[in-house]
Amino acid sequence: MRITCPFCGERDLGEFTYLGDAKPMRPEAGASEDDVFDYVYLRDNVAGVMDENWYHGGGCRAWLKVTRNTLTHEISAVEPAAGAGARQVAK
Ligand SMILES: [Zn+2]
Repeated sequence: MRITCPFCGERDLGEFTYLGDAKPMRPEAGASEDDVFDYVYLRDNVAGVMDENWYHGGGCRAWLKVTRNTLTHEISAVEPAAGAGARQVAK
């Protein structure tokens, strides 16, 4: 599998580290114990298209949001991950 980094171009999978589902968002301070439990321990096991966080440690060291089909490994989009500082660099 190859990933096209928005900063470095198309690169081999070995340069990247998979961080998992990009959808879960950290609960606000004061969130209920159930919301924190869900965020820390529960993940969907998606068979199909999902957004994932990847880290390009072998290249620009940016966090990326990769839209990938988990059944076919087809990648339909790669963009800088929000909050990683990379979005400002991309402009
Ligand atoms: Zn890169």
